Amino acid sequence: MLRVAVVGSGPSGVYTAQHLAQQREVPVRVDVLDRLPCPFGLVRYGVAPDHEKIKSLQGNLRTVLEDERIRFLGHVEAGGPELPAHRLLELYHAVVYCVGAARDRRLGIPGEELAGVRSATDFVSWYSAHPDAAEERFGLDAVGSAVVIGAGNVAVDVARILARGVADLLPTDIPQTALGALTASGVREVHMVARRGPSQAKFTTKELRELGGLSGVATVVRPEELALDPAYADPSAPLPGPVRRNVEVLRGWAGAPGGPALRRIGLRFYLRPVEVLGRDGRATGVRFERTVPDGRGGVTGTGVFEEVPAQLVLRSIGYEGVALPGLPFDPRTCTVPHAAGRILREGVPAEGEYVAGWIKRGPTGVIGTNRPCAKETVGSLLADAARLVSRPRPADPLTELRAAGLRPVEWRGWLSIERAEAELGRSLGRRSVKIPDWSGLLTAAGGR
Ligand code: NAP
Repeated sequence: MLRVAVVGSGPSGVYTAQHLAQQREVPVRVDVLDRLPCPFGLVRYGVAPDHEKIKSLQGNLRTVLEDERIRFLGHVEAGGPELPAHRLLELYHAVVYCVGAARDRRLGIPGEELAGVRSATDFVSWYSAHPDAAEERFGLDAVGSAVVIGAGNVAVDVARILARGVADLLPTDIPQTALGALTASGVREVHMVARRGPSQAKFTTKELRELGGLSGVATVVRPEELALDPAYADPSAPLPGPVRRNVEVLRGWAGAPGGPALRRIGLRFYLRPVEVLGRDGRATGVRFERTVPDGRGGVTGTGVFEEVPAQLVLRSIGYEGVALPGLPFDPRTCTVPHAAGRILREGVPAEGEYVAGWIKRGPTGVIGTNRPCAKETVGSLLADAARLVSRPRPADPLTELRAAGLRPVEWRGWLSIERAEAELGRSLGRRSVKIPDWSGLLTAAGGR
């Protein structure tokens, strides 16, 4: 019996477990480990609460984790002092790291350290009730104008949550503290700012279009900022579909008559941040330099500057992977070096160690992108299986984990958390509401 540990229970981890369980050639048992007591990774702690359709993917992931050959072991930190990478390999024939890209990237401009400048990741963790963000506070009552730097889907998510009325969020599982802060929010203007043009924006059209459908919210676009990159200058050549659809939506908004609105989302292009401005240690705005296309897909500065007032600045410029103790790491790409999912140590495939998901290919793609990525890794692992399974391993790694002092939260513990969240929701007159802190989650998981 091949025993595999999958580290991480987000989409890439669960799809890895699914591919392993789906095949019939190699008898397998899979433990899906997670540092958190709750499964589903970014589907639970990244997908915005109002994106219920994407959130419903949890149902599919859940079915996988309920397979009798798969076992969820939450509250187990692989790579930590109690379970270093080399120890994991003594317990399992193979280990697949699906740990995502945990850290947000920084702008590296003056003023970034001012109060009021935060990462979109922190904001997302806060409104998603990530237990590591239990101490986070986003006081929005004194914020009239917010700047979101970046033009990816995370920027769209945070701009939408800032602009959206709380009535729309009430039926979601957003934690009570975030709901309270958003209810008291003074935000009237959200500026989402891209350093390049609309044809290079990273957001997808479905997400973009949603901004135009928010009740009481006007989307504002300046026609003069919609110039296409020179790569698309030939009017007779068709634009690639995703670019064309984004540009069509933006042009539609640029041509629309402005009406009264409670809040406005301004989409700005060709502005690169050069400094966060502040007073008394707090952000008061962002200074941008106007850019123009450089003819190679990038932009170049023009020496013309513009200041946008803001009491909250969210940088939303992508994630990056974090080195896991005991594993090789490429600091240039912030990924683990691999060949078809086999981890490379000094350029040579390491026996029994694999990667899948963002830590393998970088933080790109939608949730479904993780399926083929996991499939490739599992293909490599199964090709190595005969050799791997010949090495003796303990009968049940869980016994060893407990002996090492770990207290895994098993599937029934997670089901207890779910019940406690439903109960919390009922007590607040809402649907299920997420428990936002470690002690609450662990208590709910099993009376600790
Ligand atoms: P992203 O898609 O990589 O977008 C990052 C944005 O930040 C880009 O617009 C980029 O501009 C900009 N940027 C990078 N460095 C910058 C700098 N120094 N100054 C100014 N701007 C800078 O990253 P993301 O939004 O974090 O999303 C990560 C992944 O999650 C994506 O694959 C995304 O589609 C996915 N996601 C999907 C959903 C959904 O499907 N609903 C929701 C959330 C996230 P340049 O292009 O000029 O570099």
